Amino acid sequence: MPLFKRRPTEFAAPIGTLPCTDQGCRNETATACSYRDRRGRACEMAFCPEHWSMIGGIMYCRRHAGTISAMGPGTDPSALPELENRGPSLVSWVADEIGPEIEELLRGIARSTETVKTEPEVKVVFDHKRRRRWERSWKLIEPTGISLKVALTVNEDEDDALVDVRVNSNVIARGVPPWIARRRAGLGVGGQVDKDQRELFHRFFINHIAEEITAQRTADASLSA
Ligand SMILES: [Zn+2]
Ligand SMILES: [Zn+2]
Repeated sequence: MPLFKRRPTEFAAPIGTLPCTDQGCRNETATACSYRDRRGRACEMAFCPEHWSMIGGIMYCRRHAGTISAMGPGTDPSALPELENRGPSLVSWVADEIGPEIEELLRGIARSTETVKTEPEVKVVFDHKRRRRWERSWKLIEPTGISLKVALTVNEDEDDALVDVRVNSNVIARGVPPWIARRRAGLGVGGQVDKDQRELFHRFFINHIAEEITAQRTADASLSA
């Protein structure tokens, strides 16, 4: 018989004691964001239950909740971007917006032996100089391997709002989304102008992808003819 009865572990209600970082919120029930970047630095934001974001029962500030959900909750911590970097969330956001159209373009040019594969999470990719970039991709897969790849990427050592469009290894178009450009210029974001500009930005990417993959297929066909 043990001398002491083991006490059950009690669920600790996630109520903090810090002031909430949200502008205009006076709650002092905030908990610090759980995000740690790849250098081990901790986020200093703290939010109350009304303003925090939970992913898998873990509390994050809104920005880092975006990063974690873009990369998937099981991501290796050494792949997580530095605190201020919004690259993965932005890649994920644009990919969700134009992904269905990219899939359709790929299905349109696929040969009978090829299937379309969509990567649902942001991956870290290294270039030949070991520089990182965040990537969401769509591929045409043949029994022998990848025959074509379209990707949206943001480079770690560049502007974290600059999105590149890649077809295979070439960057064919790039741009900062207009809503970010407007915010940076101190202009208001929202309304019809914003909607139209978003649409233009998406068209710009889609049209370049369509042009490039058609050109590549034509070149392939003349090679094998
Ligand atoms: Zn709050
Ligand atoms: Zn955070």
